Amino acid sequence: MTGMSVDGRQRLLGCRRIVVKIGSALLVEGLTGALHLDWLDALAADLKKLASGGADLLVVSSGAIALGRRRLKLAAGELKLEEAQAAAAVGQIELAKAWAESLQRQGLTAAQILLTLGDTEQRRRYLNARATLATLLKIGAVPVINENDTVATSEIRYGDNDRLAARVAAMIGADCLVLLSDVDGLYTAPPADNPDAQFIDHVASIDSRIEAMAGAAGSDLSRGGMKTKIEAGKIAVAAGAAMVIASGHGKHPLEAIDKGGRATWFAPQSTPANARKAWIAGHLEPRGTVQIDSGAVSALYSGKSLLPAGISAVTGDFSRGDAVVIMDHQGSEIGRGLSAYDAAEAAAITGCKSSRIETILGYPGRSEMIHRDDMVLRDR
Ligand code: GLU
Repeated sequence: MTGMSVDGRQRLLGCRRIVVKIGSALLVEGLTGALHLDWLDALAADLKKLASGGADLLVVSSGAIALGRRRLKLAAGELKLEEAQAAAAVGQIELAKAWAESLQRQGLTAAQILLTLGDTEQRRRYLNARATLATLLKIGAVPVINENDTVATSEIRYGDNDRLAARVAAMIGADCLVLLSDVDGLYTAPPADNPDAQFIDHVASIDSRIEAMAGAAGSDLSRGGMKTKIEAGKIAVAAGAAMVIASGHGKHPLEAIDKGGRATWFAPQSTPANARKAWIAGHLEPRGTVQIDSGAVSALYSGKSLLPAGISAVTGDFSRGDAVVIMDHQGSEIGRGLSAYDAAEAAAITGCKSSRIETILGYPGRSEMIHRDDMVLRDR
């Protein structure tokens, strides 16, 4: 759950897993293309504070294209796709270096992750990206994520990092998503053309009224206006994460949010665990079944993952990442989960000890057939 202080104010301190998205305009000086390194150092100090409070942290950082275009001295105005890709190839190196150094000064280790749309939309790749992020968090590194702009073309790209950050938050079960940019939150109408627009500090649910308030604002450096932030909000709150929109212009913007500074908070509609369970149980069409022995049934109900050794039969034609029905030895459904193996591989390792997986399949696969985090069981 989102951290709450005694006076009921929402806070970042106390959140378990936080995704922080940084807009290009905060990191890169518009005219010169210089990086705002002092600002980044102050942000890294804020992140350190949250990490010391026990939170897992992930950063989604824009800025590659903005940095690269200045380095390559590309003309102002809209870039062609190939130019944006070339700019990202140059800028991403510098961006990652700045993050690595700033986080290092706080004793934090940065890990660069470049994602394309398929990494969050295709279940097979989704499992891979999720496993890597989870491993990085477990060993205490801070993933610094951006879209892999150099290979993403218009039909296969997120296009804006607001939505990318929301997908990451959903994928990794974050309980909070912070969008830092040059806007300080949501107003009843786009404030640039509406001087009477009122600031909204809390949104209980994103309905058509809220969507209508967003307009289509944005700056020339970042793609995401308020509209994409609201789209991101829908993804995040449905996945059980609170979302905060706040200005990142001052130094220590995360600390400012925690001190009650101006921000719009969007309430989560669920918890990350429940949202994930609902997704696995209800929204995915199962592609096959795995039948398990009575020992495995007890192991699953005591919170363990399903190992190949506990499986007695596999049916269906499923791929890695597909949902399958888990049946007990009498053929009754006891739950559902995402399979870590294709049907043919699953059949080959059925009943085998996990230590034999490599010998049988010819590569060292995961030791679980269905990880406990990818499984929902019926009540007994
Ligand atoms: N991925 C882009 C970059 O790093 C930013 C996209 C956005 O501004 O949302 O330059």
